[in-house]
Amino acid sequence: MPRVAIVGAGPAGLALAWFLKGTKYDATVYEALDQVGKKPCAWGVMEGVEKMLPVSRASLISEIRGFRIFLDNKLVHDIRTNRTLGYIVDKPAMLYDVAQRVDVKFSSKVVRKESKYLVDEKPLEADEVVIASGHYSLSKDDTIPAIQYLTDAKADQETVDFYFYSGLLGYAWVFPDREGAKIGIGGYDSVDSLKKRLSPLVEGKKPRLLQGARVSDSGVITEKLATSIGEAAGFVYAMTGEGIRPSILSAKIKADSILSGKDFTTEVKKSKLYWTLQVHAEIVKRVKSGDAKLSGLSKALTRSDPELVLRVALGDFGKIDLLRLFGRMIL
Ligand SMILES: Cc1cc2nc3c(=O)[nH]c(=O)nc-3n(C[C@H](O)[C@H](O)[C@H](O)COP(=O)(O)OP(=O)(O)OC[C@H]3O[C@@H](n4cnc5c(N)ncnc54)[C@H](O)[C@@H]3O)c2cc1C
Repeated sequence: MPRVAIVGAGPAGLALAWFLKGTKYDATVYEALDQVGKKPCAWGVMEGVEKMLPVSRASLISEIRGFRIFLDNKLVHDIRTNRTLGYIVDKPAMLYDVAQRVDVKFSSKVVRKESKYLVDEKPLEADEVVIASGHYSLSKDDTIPAIQYLTDAKADQETVDFYFYSGLLGYAWVFPDREGAKIGIGGYDSVDSLKKRLSPLVEGKKPRLLQGARVSDSGVITEKLATSIGEAAGFVYAMTGEGIRPSILSAKIKADSILSGKDFTTEVKKSKLYWTLQVHAEIVKRVKSGDAKLSGLSKALTRSDPELVLRVALGDFGKIDLLRLFGRMIL
């Protein structure tokens, strides 16, 4: 049986092991930590994930049916629907559901020495090694800092709030959870400035814990596709920080490529996922380089048809949508 060693038991690595289960491939996931789901995350996932992975009812905290969008702390869009747009999941529980059904070796940090991968100082026995180690393997230039407070704030269980700012290339969020709400921010700025910007949202909300991690904003790094999937290869929507679903989708393309003998890089480049991720990243890059104005981006996100904003934010858009939303900014 050909052996596939997967480095990292996040959404990408576990999903790949799940998609290879029951095939002629023997997949083992190596996780540095002693359990899944420790990485800070706001636990928002878009609809569709539950069809790809064995997600138990118990790990779904709430169904998201609405989005509110704020510019400079003022409400500009209040989008209520009667359809399920996504979920707030108990991510550790969701990952645990999958981890129980695949082969995971915990407390097994993989290190690379010269051209070899080692675990417990012994070479990793595998025909293919797939890196799914998340932002940890990305350079600082390809990521931004993100922090979030776990608070007791009462939040509508069916709505997620996104905040954009005319003075920040980034985004803040208020997502409901079981105990209250997660209030966080990610952006092209220092952690101290991000904290200051977030303070009006956190004030009086009894923060229980502050946590942080970096998050990719570079889009898919095509050179990384030779070895990596998930956030380790940049599968995160740069304008919103959504990385769980894109990472799982990258694992699906990887599994299909392994099973069909097709080239993963070629298959990724053919996908709508790749195109939409790269559009997000390109817009962020243009603002960073000064080719496009941050105020133009904020205006586009806050003054256009809310349904259109939602489609672009969720990565469910085509060229016409893009032209309607950003017009001259992307031409
Ligand atoms: C504050 C914050 C909030 C976020 N909120 C959301 C959100 O609400 N919704 C959303 O979709 N995305 C969110 N994201 C992004 C999302 O968390 C990630 O994009 C997603 O988890 C990436 O999945 P992954 O499997 O590629 O990597 P990860 O989830 O990072 O998993 C990688 C795993 O690899 C392990 N690992 C690392 N190095 C090694 C090694 N050498 N050997 C063995 N194991 C190793 C790590 O311990 C980890 O378990 C957020 C990110 C941050 C920072």
